[in-house]
Amino acid sequence: MENRPYIPDELWVKCPVCKTPVLSADLEENLKVCPKCGYHFRIGARQRIGITADEGSFEEFDAEMISSNVIGFPDYTRKLKNARLNSGENESVITGLATIGGYETVLAVMNSQFMMGSMGTVTGEKITRAFEYAAKHRLPVVIFTVSGGARMQEGILSLMQMAKTSGAVKRHSDAGLLYITVLTDPTTGGVTASFAMEGDVILSEPRALVGFAGPRVIEQTIRQKLPKDFQSAEFLLEKGFVDAVVPRGELKETLTRLLKLHGAVRREGEK
Ligand SMILES: [Zn+2]
Repeated sequence: MENRPYIPDELWVKCPVCKTPVLSADLEENLKVCPKCGYHFRIGARQRIGITADEGSFEEFDAEMISSNVIGFPDYTRKLKNARLNSGENESVITGLATIGGYETVLAVMNSQFMMGSMGTVTGEKITRAFEYAAKHRLPVVIFTVSGGARMQEGILSLMQMAKTSGAVKRHSDAGLLYITVLTDPTTGGVTASFAMEGDVILSEPRALVGFAGPRVIEQTIRQKLPKDFQSAEFLLEKGFVDAVVPRGELKETLTRLLKLHGAVRREGEK
């Protein structure tokens, strides 16, 4: 044992499902999917853009837009500041223009590292603007969702984003354009109750938790025991709420195929 090379703890990550220790570098290499059981660890928004958009193609929209404490909620100003510091981002969603497999697309990626992807006014505004840009330029929209729901620190103004984003989705849809959502773990609350479930095609990562209210709240309300795997991506697929459960490693290829199938435009100069 003494001849064993010294490997510090932070180099290893234990899979929460199969408990197998995995080398951090191997986990990164495998797109943060456990090589043994296929458990999908959460990944940051920038990394998601990196594995989805073609290299160097992402042009960000509204990067400088930041939230303020609109209703004077106690401690929110400090929380926002911490969220910005800890995530290195200004808000819970990153939007922009990209090509995916050569196809020009408006791409929005939510960020669990910023207040658990909660939807505030700026989140809703950025998503709305992304749809408006896509409608104007006749482009498809792809959104990766991850969210704890509406941001309670912004009160009714955060709930209003559900209606606002849904309006923007409708106008984009009425223009005959494609919208694909990719649900990732967890997608809940006001985001599920608005744009996350409004895609023409709804994909999900394996075993993602997708729901509106938590299971305990539902059980107490309907006074019934909920089925096993309730609110999992696989359960929603079985019930018809999700069109396909796609492992992370196959997502880019799947999105490319869907964009192609729906007549998305290839950017000139791309192969
Ligand atoms: Zn595992």
